[in-house]
Amino acid sequence: MSDVYTESLNRLIEEFGKLPGIGPKSSERLAFYILKRRRDEAMALAEAIVDVKNKIKRCEICYSLSEERICPICCDKRRDESVICIVEQPKDIISLEKTGSCKWVYHVLGGHIAPLEGIEPSDLTINELVERVRGGGIKEVVMATNPNMAGDGTVLYISSVLRPLGVKITRLARGLPSGSTIEYASGKILTDAIIGRQELE
Ligand SMILES: [Zn+2]
Repeated sequence: MSDVYTESLNRLIEEFGKLPGIGPKSSERLAFYILKRRRDEAMALAEAIVDVKNKIKRCEICYSLSEERICPICCDKRRDESVICIVEQPKDIISLEKTGSCKWVYHVLGGHIAPLEGIEPSDLTINELVERVRGGGIKEVVMATNPNMAGDGTVLYISSVLRPLGVKITRLARGLPSGSTIEYASGKILTDAIIGRQELE
């Protein structure tokens, strides 16, 4: 960090540098951009950051992001609550919802099982999912984890714990390229994968 900048400017550059994909040059450029903005514009950015951290929490049912105790999807009475779609991240819900083909509800795991990265089943909301299914009224669980090794391992584990509960378990399949992610899949491919979901053996 350069001594020619003041302490507060250095701090802003340092904070921008912690953002994903932002190198030293970009963090400097962003900091100078903020410095040049009008005060109210810069404050709007600062307040937006404070707001998301203060207001956004996890839905008590599906663990997606919500500003209320229960998220708008779980509150939506037109949805089929007997079908739960399992995703890794809240962002995946946005991709799936954009297809317009989903009338189900969701369950957000908060990631995938990855023992090498130290992510165990107990770090995800799998126990909460089992409780949800055990609560009754669930006909189908649709696995929509990413079609890569970690996603596959997570599907295997979850189906092994859900199978004794007698629920039908399906997985998005057709058209989703192996190794890809739900987040970046095209709407057409996702729609095909939703319609063509197959029951897990
Ligand atoms: Zn919810």
